[in-house]
Amino acid sequence: MPELPEVETTLRGLQPFLEGAVLESVDVYVAQLRQPINKYFSKLLVGKCLTQMRRRNKYILAEVAGTSNTLLLHLGMSGRFTIFTGLNNLPPRAKHDHIIFKTAHAEVRYNDARRFGLALIIPTVEVANHPLLLKLGPEPLTDAFDGTALFKALQRRTTAIKPTLMDAAVVCGVGNIYASESLFRAGINPLKSSQNLSRKQAGVLVECIKTVLTEAIAAGGSTLRDYAQPDGQLGYFAHIFKVYGRKGQGCLVCKTPVVQVVQAQRSTFYCPSCQPG
Ligand SMILES: [Zn+2]
Repeated sequence: MPELPEVETTLRGLQPFLEGAVLESVDVYVAQLRQPINKYFSKLLVGKCLTQMRRRNKYILAEVAGTSNTLLLHLGMSGRFTIFTGLNNLPPRAKHDHIIFKTAHAEVRYNDARRFGLALIIPTVEVANHPLLLKLGPEPLTDAFDGTALFKALQRRTTAIKPTLMDAAVVCGVGNIYASESLFRAGINPLKSSQNLSRKQAGVLVECIKTVLTEAIAAGGSTLRDYAQPDGQLGYFAHIFKVYGRKGQGCLVCKTPVVQVVQAQRSTFYCPSCQPG
């Protein structure tokens, strides 16, 4: 499942091709993804430009210039965009290519085998209050997310810190993988009750979250070199994780075997020595 770094990388990959370019055609091949696609989706976009492309949590938002609408995209479980620039030599539409955006210089295809993604058109005035966006906490890479803010958010929470980090009302976009990675870097046990973190630990954890996400975005960014190739796909890249997925292998710091537990139906990995309970 794409996490924040993949979405950020996807956004940065789409921007040079879609932002400010007139959409010459928009072809929709399915009636719905996770939610129905507006039957006027194509009509509302063709002949228009997308501007102010940005990310909020794991949503990609873009204003439809000259209209009062905003396009909202989400990759769901398996969504991916592929950019084709060789317009004279386009491959046939692939299975699960559900939406194709075409400009004068590129064709951008949205492929989603599991159809959990979203492609919505919502009135721009409703964006801030849209049910998907309304109750989101701070973005992890902004100054609004600091040790004081996290410490305050943890005070009333008795749940373990790891699932709490994955609650978008506490902080946006810290998914399962990066919650484990951040807690490992911070030396905090993932099973620790949220309200028992000290102010100092909250500060360290915030810095570790920012670091792991920034590193992952940088790693994804390095894959962007390839994205303009005719088969260039956006949004997925090989990660090197310090603790995630390393059950039974020696901790990279102290060689203690990494432990896997399940919290809120999701796998958590940690080092019992570096992250004492
Ligand atoms: Zn260790």
